[in-house]
Amino acid sequence: MTELLKNHVSGKWIAGGGGGAILRDPILGTELVRVSSAGLDLDASYEYARRVGGAALRAMSYAERAACLRAVIKVLKANRERYAEISIANSGSTARDIKADVDGAIFTLGSYARLGEQLGDRRYLIDGETTALDKDGQFHGQHLMVPTRGIVLCINAFNFPAWGLWEKAGPALLSGVPVVCKPATATAWLTHQMVADVVGAAVLPTGALSLICGSSEQLLEPLSSHDLLSFTGAAQTAAMLRRHERVIHQSIRTNVETDSINSVLLDARVAVDSDFFSQFITDLCDEITVRAGQRCTAPRRIFVREEDYDTVAEALATALAKVKLGNPRNPTVMMGPVVNRSQQHHVHEGLARLSKHCELLFDGAGLDWVDADPRIATCVGQHLLGIRKPEANSLVHEIEVFGPVATLIAYQSTDQALELIRRGNGSLVVSIYTEDPAFIAQSALELADCHGRVHAVTPEVSQSRTGHGNVMPGSLHGGPGRAGGGEELGGLRALSFYHRRSALQAGTAALTHLSAAGASYRP
Ligand code: NAP
Repeated sequence: MTELLKNHVSGKWIAGGGGGAILRDPILGTELVRVSSAGLDLDASYEYARRVGGAALRAMSYAERAACLRAVIKVLKANRERYAEISIANSGSTARDIKADVDGAIFTLGSYARLGEQLGDRRYLIDGETTALDKDGQFHGQHLMVPTRGIVLCINAFNFPAWGLWEKAGPALLSGVPVVCKPATATAWLTHQMVADVVGAAVLPTGALSLICGSSEQLLEPLSSHDLLSFTGAAQTAAMLRRHERVIHQSIRTNVETDSINSVLLDARVAVDSDFFSQFITDLCDEITVRAGQRCTAPRRIFVREEDYDTVAEALATALAKVKLGNPRNPTVMMGPVVNRSQQHHVHEGLARLSKHCELLFDGAGLDWVDADPRIATCVGQHLLGIRKPEANSLVHEIEVFGPVATLIAYQSTDQALELIRRGNGSLVVSIYTEDPAFIAQSALELADCHGRVHAVTPEVSQSRTGHGNVMPGSLHGGPGRAGGGEELGGLRALSFYHRRSALQAGTAALTHLSAAGASYRP
């Protein structure tokens, strides 16, 4: 039998009961480790985190908690090679996938450590200016933000076991809120290893970081009114969690990050024989295939003017044909498998549904898999679909195929393209490729209300832009509508979820005293 990974709760490592769920290598099909949370006393675990971890974190200043994050970074950097091995074995990651997940996690933590250092030797935040409440200016109101005295339950998706943990835990710990992390079962091993290393190094207060691997049953039952729920995953799961009795009756503050039908728009005036156009094609090919398309920010819809449709289709198909698929242990491989048989099935199913209404511009089904046995490995070839008459097709704005699949869509006018993009019903990101800054301003204003992020690429930023799919800690991550309606990161803005805002109404002397000891919150 393979190793059964333990859970870290109540300051101890505890094995779950039963045989546990098996985690597999998506290329070799071999069993790697098992996870189980059966039999854990979740009530006691959450209470321990609140009482012991929460109290210890709140006793520290932002700068002291930032020092903890710096120490976590040191541990993670020291063990990076081990994380890369686990990521290859359990997620089928290539080098660029590991960079996005593991190095992305470390980068995000670094950013929050820096913000914490700037907040300094303070333990609460002062939000905005004082407001006079009486006629003669003796009595004022001042908003403060103090860390909640509960836990945050972080439920993560399978596609980012490293970044998914730390992009939530970084802002939470910096705020003074203990984290209970529940990674997706399929890829829990990497999260487990990171938590084990950090706990082993004793760089965080006891109870500040707990880990539950395995079944999600009863996870929400012990939540109480000061706790927080931060969820990343499928929209269907999110809907179920939102309806949970504890979430409703205890008013659990919840942040949700779900599916998204992201878009890329090419301005009609970009010349198809320009270097900028080549850059657009290279970027798209990377964005479609990185992490085998299992990125919530991956472009799913690509909008180009009707006259350029065939040229883009041909250029993108040529680029996609060069992406070698297979075993990430082979250095020539650029795209690994999807995470398991069930995801492979979902991708095939979604592709079949979409294909009925689209033309097939690049068919990766027949590609050879490098060092991977098609009977065992869970690879999915890259696909480009196309729609010349978009008005008649609604499915392309509704189905998220969580794999290396995108659809090229022809538009006749900018107004039509913007209207079609909005049909995504709320997305994480839209990218705009143009040479005209005025076009960016106009399109961004039209799309900002239904996108968490608008990423604009012009020739002058082609070297410095951070990329359509890359989530930067200083910028907002999340999106309205079907993207979940959540907000994460965005620099100091992230801290707002973990703090409670309260209005103190008092005289000048009390408020002066208060302002002097709090850090000012200006995201
Ligand atoms: P999922 O099936 O919804 O699972 C997500 C997490 O929820 C897992 O940890 C899962 O645990 C847990 N879970 C499932 N049922 C639960 C319940 N009843 N109570 C509590 N927890 C429960 O999603 P996934 O397949 O892992 O992830 C893929 C989806 O995530 C895609 O649709 C993608 O777009 C989305 N995603 C969004 C973002 C974003 O930031 N917007 C980022 C990444 C992924 P188990 O694994 O143990 O079932």
